[in-house]
Amino acid sequence: MAETLSDAVARRRTFAIIAHPDAGKTTLTEKLLLFGGAIQLAGEVKAKKDRIQTRSDWMKIERERGISVVTSVMTFEYGDHVFNLLDTPGHEDFADDTYRTLTAVDAAVMVLDAARGIEPRTLKLFEVCRLRDIPIITFVNKLDRESRNPFEILDEIEEKLALDTAPITWPIGLGKNFSGTYHLKHNTVRRSDADVEPIAVNGPEADNVAGLLPEYQREAFIEEVNLAREACRPFDMESFREGHLTPVYFGSALRNFGVRDLIEAIGDWAPVPRAQEGDSRKVEATEEKMTSFVFKIQANMDPNHRDRIAFVRVCSGRLQRGMKAKLVRTGKQISLTAPQFFFARNRITADEAVAGDVVGIPNHGTLRIGDTLTEGEDILFRGVPNFAPEILRRVRLSDAMKAKKLREALQQMAEEGVVQLFSPEDGSPAIVGVVGALQLDVLKERLKMEYTLPVDFEISRFSICRWISSDTKGEVDKFIAAHRGDIARDLDDDPVYLAQHQFGLNYEAERWKDIRFTAVKDYQ
Ligand code: GDP
Repeated sequence: MAETLSDAVARRRTFAIIAHPDAGKTTLTEKLLLFGGAIQLAGEVKAKKDRIQTRSDWMKIERERGISVVTSVMTFEYGDHVFNLLDTPGHEDFADDTYRTLTAVDAAVMVLDAARGIEPRTLKLFEVCRLRDIPIITFVNKLDRESRNPFEILDEIEEKLALDTAPITWPIGLGKNFSGTYHLKHNTVRRSDADVEPIAVNGPEADNVAGLLPEYQREAFIEEVNLAREACRPFDMESFREGHLTPVYFGSALRNFGVRDLIEAIGDWAPVPRAQEGDSRKVEATEEKMTSFVFKIQANMDPNHRDRIAFVRVCSGRLQRGMKAKLVRTGKQISLTAPQFFFARNRITADEAVAGDVVGIPNHGTLRIGDTLTEGEDILFRGVPNFAPEILRRVRLSDAMKAKKLREALQQMAEEGVVQLFSPEDGSPAIVGVVGALQLDVLKERLKMEYTLPVDFEISRFSICRWISSDTKGEVDKFIAAHRGDIARDLDDDPVYLAQHQFGLNYEAERWKDIRFTAVKDYQ
């Protein structure tokens, strides 16, 4: 018998990994995919990295990220569960992409380097998860190297993140003596991830636990485990789901320790696909009718096929191959002829994806970030954010004959979320905005490679950009009329006010009390 929708939804776990660069996100991803059977050999991901020829800095960054070049979502199965792992760029210049991706997950795995603890990017990404009430499972990585004491790491999480911790496993030894993970509650051991099933033991003092350590370390280890059991907080599901408590696992992604413990934790504890807030109502994942939204667009994933993939999070129902869906922004129907599932190296056409799944929809520019697709209902999912750019530039083109081509190219890049594009009301050339400087390198490189448009950037006289709105009718029009030279329109034709400096913005905000100047806009 075919699986019911609610059974299928209940098996889904959709999550992202958040980490400071170098903590081990890529290595952990490879191992998760390996145990999930999505790749044969963990080395394959790296092999792929080396084949990709690149030039500029941004591409190097992408290459170093390896797997992310290939795809932004990876689907795999382990045990009874279907996992959708969404990749997030590690570099902070691509922060807006990361924030949008986090709108599409139900849980996050926070990877810490056991010697470094909480690092700046970890903190930032954690704050985004907290804002969205995303429950977090912690994986303390690199225990095979010189590490801090586990208690010290737990303290740091509690202090820096104001997050309760509940250690679930405990490392048996550290550094070169690291020899496995001990489950504090189940009294089981995994000596490495080669142990598919954990081994039942008599307690920390057993030969196959403390006995794995050099004699002089055994007593201290047994004491530590007893202390962890008595003094640490027990795991509490409600507190975890509300984002107040994180279960903590220890391991080494590189050396195959603790990764199975982690996958099982995601399966057991990460929430099933959550209900999504629409503009008119909340949509439950188990509703029969399909709804979904686009949180990311990726172009040219495969240089041999110039395609553009919209990544869609299914919010409810089943997204079936060949179905027609309504694109709510335009009211038009589109055919979902070839939705794709992504694995580590390949993609397959998906006959059906259910709520919680993330699929790629190939298209030629019909879909934009933030778009909602439904089976007819006029509902919009909000919350895929658009951040005011921090760097504004004019694009200079040496060949004036190509101005039209440039406009089209910039429009496409803006729809993909590579840059934001603003058209000044006074008709002067377009301004591009980015959150991080590397995004400008991406833009330049892609305009050259894909559109043969060599460009340079000129400093614009503006440095700040704010969306403007008002509850008072006519107020925005009045403001625009009074500031025509400082107004531009974004991709949706919404007006922004461009200021030369913070002082200028404060001055206008003081004078125009009925106008809201906002630094974040939800895509609609
Ligand atoms: P990312 O930047 O977070 O994706 O980090 P990577 O997965 O690329 O790892 C950064 C470096 O740390 C690489 O040289 C990895 O081989 C290494 N690494 C990752 N996990 C471990 C681990 O568990 N133990 C040790 N010793 N090295 C690790």
